[in-house]
Amino acid sequence: MKVPFLDLKAQHAPLIDKLDRAIREVIESSAFAGGPFVERFEKEFAAYCGSQYAIGVGNGTDALWLTLLALGIGEGDEVITVPNTFIATAEAITYCKARPVFVDVGENTFTMNPAELKRSLTARTKAIIPVHLFGQPANMDPILEFARMHGLFVIEDTAQAHGAEYKGRKTGTLGDAGCFSFYPGKNLGALGEAGAVVTNDAELRKKIQMLRDHGQARKYHHTLAGWNCRMDGIQAAVLSIKLRHLEEGNLLRREHALQYNQAFAGIDEVATPLEANYAWHVYHVYAIRVQERDEVRRRLEENEIGCAVHYPIPIHLQEACRSLGYTKGAFPVAENLAKEFLSLPMFPELTEQQIEYVARCVSETVGVGALV
Ligand SMILES: *Cc1c(COP(=O)(O)O)cnc(C)c1O
Repeated sequence: MKVPFLDLKAQHAPLIDKLDRAIREVIESSAFAGGPFVERFEKEFAAYCGSQYAIGVGNGTDALWLTLLALGIGEGDEVITVPNTFIATAEAITYCKARPVFVDVGENTFTMNPAELKRSLTARTKAIIPVHLFGQPANMDPILEFARMHGLFVIEDTAQAHGAEYKGRKTGTLGDAGCFSFYPGKNLGALGEAGAVVTNDAELRKKIQMLRDHGQARKYHHTLAGWNCRMDGIQAAVLSIKLRHLEEGNLLRREHALQYNQAFAGIDEVATPLEANYAWHVYHVYAIRVQERDEVRRRLEENEIGCAVHYPIPIHLQEACRSLGYTKGAFPVAENLAKEFLSLPMFPELTEQQIEYVARCVSETVGVGALV
């Protein structure tokens, strides 16, 4: 049996007529860059998140970068984040000439360990970017409390957690701003590149709206040094349709995670992901932890099962970040996770049989049960 890591074709097949119609509507109105389709999606997505505003931008990296810029973060400033995330979180910080400062993560939640914040704080610290990794919200209350005490901004990187909840509130709405990516493989994905910022702060919204559009609020009157980070009309029209299926997709992901968890119950060699008691996890990624990770990975690939490692090298040990001066051993939890993580197929359209087959293949490779 062949099991892909992700199957976007299966996701789009039942929507193809609606997507076709939506794209044609954009072509007929010629509203390609920003415009009414983007404005409509912004309203819908803000309402979905329970936020006052959403600002559509070109991608998730833009969302993080423009938010930092709009909050005035720049040269000489420090921004605290985690080392086990996609590189974009750190790139957005360095791209506004600030310095990323990492803190280690929790062993079981894989997200920012709030107890580590104190020793990373300096007079230059301006903001914290917790990452809701794999669809699990970070432990926000202690992070927000720490930020309040020290006058720091909190920007949520929720690129992997559309629709996840922390104590009943959607991620992205807990801090000063929440940054989303609609990269095709995300829980809510465009048919290309797109991203958004959500916020309740009208001034921050205004500033990001200007920064994404060459620093202008009125055409050809450029009051800020901006850039071009607008969202495409076609992507917005597509996202309006796909947003209606996000909840259903997240529920299916949760069911699949439960089936995997049950299949691995009692197998000590496989550690399954935990849903924190404050969290509504949306399983963008279902990552197990195994000692013989590379061997298991090889066996799955031999059996035509797609899998991945998120991420094999923590950010502080990436070559591009060498100038930050971190060395091996700086963040033992994140470094250990990078050795043990293995992401299994996870997407709403997975079947029970496929999950059973993947789980059996993993179990047999770690020495439990008969060989496939
Ligand atoms: C995908 C992702 C991003 C970047 O989003 P793009 O749309 O690809 O720019 C940022 N942070 C995290 C954690 C991500 O997973």
